[in-house]
Amino acid sequence: MRLAARVPAGSPAALARSAQSGQPNARLFHVARAAMAPTVGIRTWKEDGSPMTAGGIVRLYLINPSNRLVSIVKLEESRWNRYRVWQPLSLMVLAGLTPPEWEVTLLDENTGLPHYHEMPLPDLVGITAFTSQAPRAYEIAARFRRLGVPVVMGGIHATMCVDEVMPRVDSVVTGEADAVWPQVLEDAARGRLERRYDGGLAGMDAVRPARHDLLPAEYAFGAIQTTRGCPMNCTFCSVTAFNGARYRQRPVPEVVNEFRSIPEKMVLVVDDNLIGTRPEHIARAKALFRA
Ligand code: SF4
Repeated sequence: MRLAARVPAGSPAALARSAQSGQPNARLFHVARAAMAPTVGIRTWKEDGSPMTAGGIVRLYLINPSNRLVSIVKLEESRWNRYRVWQPLSLMVLAGLTPPEWEVTLLDENTGLPHYHEMPLPDLVGITAFTSQAPRAYEIAARFRRLGVPVVMGGIHATMCVDEVMPRVDSVVTGEADAVWPQVLEDAARGRLERRYDGGLAGMDAVRPARHDLLPAEYAFGAIQTTRGCPMNCTFCSVTAFNGARYRQRPVPEVVNEFRSIPEKMVLVVDDNLIGTRPEHIARAKALFRA
């Protein structure tokens, strides 16, 4: 068994360390952690190297890799980048599905590269990526794996290019992760991650409201998703390959409640098809607009 000392989140020492660094990323890190539960001061480990979760908290980093095409930190290249960068909603949804014994830090590299070497080591790293982010995702995965931290990758690139991603990470989640995420975390805490989890198409009862309190206030828009899938099923479209042609709608009251938790004044509705095709789809969309 080995013991590792740790500065408790939100403690005077942690705040002083954050303030002394003077880096925007330290601020991001602090903002993200401010809303978290208190943490334990000492972490203990089992003989097999996995963290003991009983009475303790395990640390999870959810990372949106830098996108070389658009990034808020590239505003000098184009002021429109601020409006092209979407919040990493999939990671915010996974954060909402994560049990309280996990301390979640959401890191979006498109608002500034975190100083990973100054941050405490996590117990698990989760990465999402579009294809344009994949090279950076692999760099992040390699860095944390070298340090012995297991890395899980999901999202549309991992789903479409699973053979490419598999050797670069410890575990791949294909499809929509909502239904399998609790199992991924449980297996990770036991040190027994499967090589692959397939979430398929999530039922809307498995979808939880996203955590809108974990990101800094640097985005032009908040983000929400009210439906998944598109019944049009166009042959050239990646939406139906990933989210299917079965049109799935979240209940209107649930969506309205989540809207109320979004701090941004403008909100991007990240639906592929907001109104659907059938009369009942359109009636539900109208009910949402009126709510
Ligand atoms: S999202 Fe657009 S392109 Fe894709 S299947 Fe639906 S209508 Fe077609």
